[in-house]
Amino acid sequence: MVRAIVGGCWGDEGKGKITDMLGAQSDIVVRFQGGANAGHTIINEYGRSALHLLPSGVFNPHVTNVIGMGVALDLGKLFRELDAEVLSKGVTMPRLLISDRAHVLMPYHIQFDTLEEMRLADKAYGSTKSGIAPFYSDKTMKKGIQVCEIFHDELLREHLKEIAAFRNAQLVDLYHVNERKARNDEEKKLFSLIDPEEMYRYLVSFRERLRPLVGDVAAFLHQAIAEDKRILLEGQLGSLKDTDNGIYPMVTSSSPLAGFACVGAGIPPYEIKQVITVLKAYSSAVGAGAFVSELLDPVQADELRRRGGDKGEFGATTGRPRRVGWFDVVAARYGCMLQGATDVALTNIDVLSYLDEIPVCTAYELDGQRIDRFPVTPLLEHCKPVIETLPGWKCDISGAKSFEELPENARRYVEFIEKSVGVPVTMVSNGPARESIIYR
Ligand code: GDP
Repeated sequence: MVRAIVGGCWGDEGKGKITDMLGAQSDIVVRFQGGANAGHTIINEYGRSALHLLPSGVFNPHVTNVIGMGVALDLGKLFRELDAEVLSKGVTMPRLLISDRAHVLMPYHIQFDTLEEMRLADKAYGSTKSGIAPFYSDKTMKKGIQVCEIFHDELLREHLKEIAAFRNAQLVDLYHVNERKARNDEEKKLFSLIDPEEMYRYLVSFRERLRPLVGDVAAFLHQAIAEDKRILLEGQLGSLKDTDNGIYPMVTSSSPLAGFACVGAGIPPYEIKQVITVLKAYSSAVGAGAFVSELLDPVQADELRRRGGDKGEFGATTGRPRRVGWFDVVAARYGCMLQGATDVALTNIDVLSYLDEIPVCTAYELDGQRIDRFPVTPLLEHCKPVIETLPGWKCDISGAKSFEELPENARRYVEFIEKSVGVPVTMVSNGPARESIIYR
């Protein structure tokens, strides 16, 4: 049985918690796309952990954690995360399988990401500067380095020389690094050319730690499916950040859709039986781009931001304050459609308990016309939210263990979302902890 947990909107919907919860009922947890550019917050008996690259099953000793070939693998960050967030907390070394076909995100990808954001200045994408866009560009341009190459000296050296020649030309001609004066060590790195020999040493420094962890992910997962293992696909970000279907160009450079696991982990498409799409009871987004249901009143926005999640709505990777707004039916319905959602897990409903009335964006208004479909980016910029309000419940619901225990207005809110999105809400999350979950 293969099931996926994916984001229905802009990301940060609370997938980490749901994955951690369901991870305990899984044999295998798989990351199939993205890199260290987003984070999952997991709260369990080991405390609060921010995972960026490691699959969420790392706290369960019986789970095999797989990093598929679709992932942007930053080896430095991977091992730092393993040490700081897992091993140092007393968790035993998790079972980890890394695809020999995964590409390595190199330090120069971060350099290029940073330089491009600087070049774009006020037109910047709002990148996390984790190197994701240059990484996926290189991969598509056939200038990437696969994990398997780390074990082949000659090939690796040769490949790095070619890549350095190609990329260094851009560093000189486009970013003029040789004309820039570095004011500190960080800038010195930023304005330097790629040294293939240094990159070779960087990669081989991981060789021995990596060796026992590397393998053929597609073959492993096919075998696991044949043995009827319970496999959980762990998505990152959300539908609206999909390169092809999202709010281009304010998207990520890989696909956060469940279907991409067929490419990024080698899963046969017909094997994905359940697509749990996580939606948050309100909206949040990071970075620039149109956000129709955004709360523009700074005082109201600040209140929702402070109350959101377990520690307010601030980026798990960057600490940046997230933009917040009301639940957006148009975006969520579109996001669920793209994911092929079979179930919705609705999180953070407890956060809305302070409101007398809960505004919801039920449609958009574009040039005086009401629209129900999520439009392309140039039109999205001109959309205004059509807001309806639902009655609030004004009491603490964090202790409720069953749907019936929720106050009537909270139940009505859930039912309203279910009906307007068109997907059954089978889980309601009413607090950050693993136990705060209501199954329907
Ligand atoms: P992810 O990237 O989708 O995993 O989202 P995050 O890790 O950014 O999760 C969003 C935040 O919501 C985190 O701080 C979680 O601890 C928190 N969270 C998840 N579910 C709930 C919930 O039902 N209620 C509250 N209050 N916080 C939640």
